[in-house]
This record gives sequence, structure tokens and C-alpha cells, in this order.
Amino acid sequence: MTAVLVINSGSSSFKYQLIDMDTETELATGLVERIGDGVGHARHTATGSTDGRIDQTLPIPDHTAGFAVMIEAFAQHGPTLSEADLVAVGHRVVQGGSVFLGPVVVDDLVQGQIADLADLAPLHNPAHVQGIIAARAFFPTVPHVAVFDTSFHQTLPAAAYTYAIDTALAAEHSIRRYGFHGSSHKFVSEAAAEFLGRPLAELKTIVLHLGNGASACAVDGGRSIDTSMGLTPLQGLVMGTRSGDIDPAVVFHLHRKAGLGIEELDELLNKKSGMLGLTGNGDMRDVEDAAVAGDEVAQAALDVYYHRIRGYVGSYMAQLGGLDVIVFTAGVGENSPIVRAGALAGLEGLGIEIDPALNDPFSRVPRVVSTAASRVTVLVIPTNEELEIARQTLGTIGRTPPAL
Ligand code: AMP
Repeated sequence: MTAVLVINSGSSSFKYQLIDMDTETELATGLVERIGDGVGHARHTATGSTDGRIDQTLPIPDHTAGFAVMIEAFAQHGPTLSEADLVAVGHRVVQGGSVFLGPVVVDDLVQGQIADLADLAPLHNPAHVQGIIAARAFFPTVPHVAVFDTSFHQTLPAAAYTYAIDTALAAEHSIRRYGFHGSSHKFVSEAAAEFLGRPLAELKTIVLHLGNGASACAVDGGRSIDTSMGLTPLQGLVMGTRSGDIDPAVVFHLHRKAGLGIEELDELLNKKSGMLGLTGNGDMRDVEDAAVAGDEVAQAALDVYYHRIRGYVGSYMAQLGGLDVIVFTAGVGENSPIVRAGALAGLEGLGIEIDPALNDPFSRVPRVVSTAASRVTVLVIPTNEELEIARQTLGTIGRTPPAL
């Protein structure tokens, strides 16, 4: 067996997944949370084992203590890491800036560069570094690989990533569109080509990653050529709690007229906007239920959400110069027939037509949800960012992922 451990480390929690790369199947998953909070919580599940699940509450003062809890859970509840033949640890890193064009083996220099990019991702990169430091201490003999959410979008042309502001100021402060959700957009666009049995190189695809965070990506022959998130994950689509696109002058206006300071505005647009701001509830399931029950506020919010998506679909059809495939993915995209149908309603004239008989049934497998007559094929493909990180990790250490 060849196993890769994938770590997604946040400031007060980390998630992990152990993946058997011979079969690309999950061996174990876990979550360690409320680190440094007095009473921590850890959950570990060894996939397919009846006694392989543990849920415990205990003090977890820091990430290193959290890693000790994880190691103990593997030892007690399996699979044992030595038997699984752990060959590498893959770390999700949100911001790779313009420094990292692809995944890299982590050494002290790389670790420092990831830390230095904290200015661009203050909530994420420092937390990733904490996870990397702890993981390198616990697994000193295997390679660690950093896989960046931004690197898939490093193929964006300058015209797509440049903001029309003072060039010198932008250069000095590294201001440009970076884009995020790259592992998901890459995984899903490749899976779409595979599912359709068509060469990736000839497909023009729009991926709609609709989760709590949401972004659209235009993929031309496997390369990201445009994406809706920008310098930060705030730009673009309407999200659970983020506004997405907004006239920047709203910020000046609220500062001048409502007296809001920078921190309050940051919090307003990142944490109190989107579906939460529009309806008082940031969870799409609740918004949908309310709309179905006749709540006009919820329906109006969904209309804003759909309007934004349609705008990106139209824009990306133009940027791609055509379109073969639209893929829905992530929590909302995979699970909500209402959102899929609503977002693409009225696009029949552009050759995009959803088939209710295919769209409505719940399923966990990749599938077509457009009509046979639809010129653009609309797919639902469950994303798997952990597997993508594991594949890139294996590729980076010189082992190719299996051809399954
Ligand atoms: P993610 O960030 O990908 O985990 O997605 C989380 C979002 O998916 C939340 O807003 C959930 O409400 C939403 N979600 C999950 N299941 C459904 C569903 N059946 N219908 C609508 N939204 C859903």
C-alpha cells in the first residue's frame, strides 16, 4: 500500500485524511478542533471499521498537542501508519502568491516563504505553517508537500489577473487576482473530461464550486483562464457570509456615512454578508427551505445568487470563446437541484438546458443533468480536494498517481 496523509490546518483546528493511493480510497478521516480553547475535541474514523471511530473531548493546547492526539488515534483505532506505508504528507495551503506555481516539497526555506505570504492570507497561511511545523516534527522521515489553492490559477493571462489600479502600487503590494479553490477546480475539470471520455485539451469548461465559499472558474483545455475570486476569497459570487462582487465605493460610503472602520467593514463583507446578510441565515439549505415555503425575502436572495452566477457563466463563455461543459460541485452545487435549475434558468438561448428528470434525483456520483438537446453538457461532479492534494503530493515526490 502507498498512503498519503493530507492535512488541512486552520488556526484553531485541523482536518486530516489518510488516502490509499494504490486505489485512491480513503483509509481514515479526522478532525481536531478547539485547539487552545481549554476543552478541545477530536474525532477520528477509520473507514469501514466497526470499532475504528473515536470522539473525544480533552485539552488540546496547541497544534503539536493536536498532532499527538491524531497519532494516538491512528495507533489505537487504526490504520497504523507504519502498516499503511505512509510515503508523504500533503498540506493544503490557501495562498501561494506569485511565488509558488505548483506544489513543492517543504523545507525550511519553503516554510518561511509560506509564512511570508501571510500578508496576503492573514487568516490562513500562519495557521498552515503551525500545522506544517507540527507535522514535520511528528513525521521527520517522510517528505512534506505544500499544495496551493492558488497555483491552478497561475495560468491566468495578465489581462485576467490585473486590476486596473496604479501599476507601481499594485506591484509593491502584490495586488492582483490570485483565485482560490484551485484544487477543486482542477480535480473537477479533469474528472469532467474523464467522465465524458473526451480529451481535456479540447474542452472548454466552466466549474461552479458552490459551497459556503463559492467561486467560478473558466477552464480552457485544462488551464484556468479566469476565476471569480481575486486578491482574496471575497470577490466574485454571492456566498454564505461573503458579499462577493461589490462596488468598492460602498466601502468608502459606509466609512464616511455610517462611520464604520476598516475592521468592521472587513467583518461586514466577509462574515455578515452574502446569504446571511440578505436573509439572516447563511446556510443555503435553510434559505432554500424558506423560499420553498413562500418566504419572499429568501426567494429574493436566491434570485441575487442566481443572477450573479448567470453573469459569470455569460462572461466566461465569452472569455472561453465557446463552451462545452458546465460542472456544479461542492455542498450547494452537488446537493441542490433547486440552485442548479435556478442558476441556469433562461439560458436555453445559449444552448444550456437543464433536464428536471436528471437534475432532481439525489445522487453522489458524477452525472449529466442537462437535456440531450442541450448544446452545453451540464454535469454534477462531487469534488475531492483531499484526493487532489494527495495526487499532487505523490506527483511532487516523483511517484505518479495510479491510472485507475
Ligand atoms: P461546503 O462549503 O462545500 O461544505 O458547502 C456547504 C454549503 O452547502 C452550506 O451552505 C449548506 O447549506 C449547503 N448544502 C449542503 N447540502 C445542501 C442541500 N441539500 N441543499 C442546499 N444546500 C446544501
